[in-house]
Amino acid sequence: MTDHSGKFLPRPRPETAAWWQSCREHKLNIQRCSGCGAFQFYPRIVCSSCMSGKVEWVQSAGRGKVVTFTICRLPVAEAYTADLPYVVALIRLEEGPTMMSNIGECEPESVAIGMPVEVTFQKWSDDITIPQFLPALAS
Ligand SMILES: [Zn+2]
Repeated sequence: MTDHSGKFLPRPRPETAAWWQSCREHKLNIQRCSGCGAFQFYPRIVCSSCMSGKVEWVQSAGRGKVVTFTICRLPVAEAYTADLPYVVALIRLEEGPTMMSNIGECEPESVAIGMPVEVTFQKWSDDITIPQFLPALAS
């Protein structure tokens, strides 16, 4: 198992606590506005399309495509050295929102714009489970 000690752990806030809880349950949740139907990510207390406060959590299919990416070859801190090289990508989920994440379980050089990916989860601590993506299996 990969050692994640020393990495920068996100700190859940009131508007993100439910999202981190869903990650611990290996569910990739996003918000949907019950007023206009728009999906959004990152978590907010209002809809970014119509400003309604009626946002609800729904489970994403966890699939998307790579919008853009970079291959990191230098660590941001010593705790990330064992992960090198790693991919940081923007992923457009099937529901529409874009999410920044890593793409793992493949050679970084095999990642391409438009590549289908699916979510997986990596436990970094008792409180924090990080959603990451891997190449989607051909269907
Ligand atoms: Zn809305």
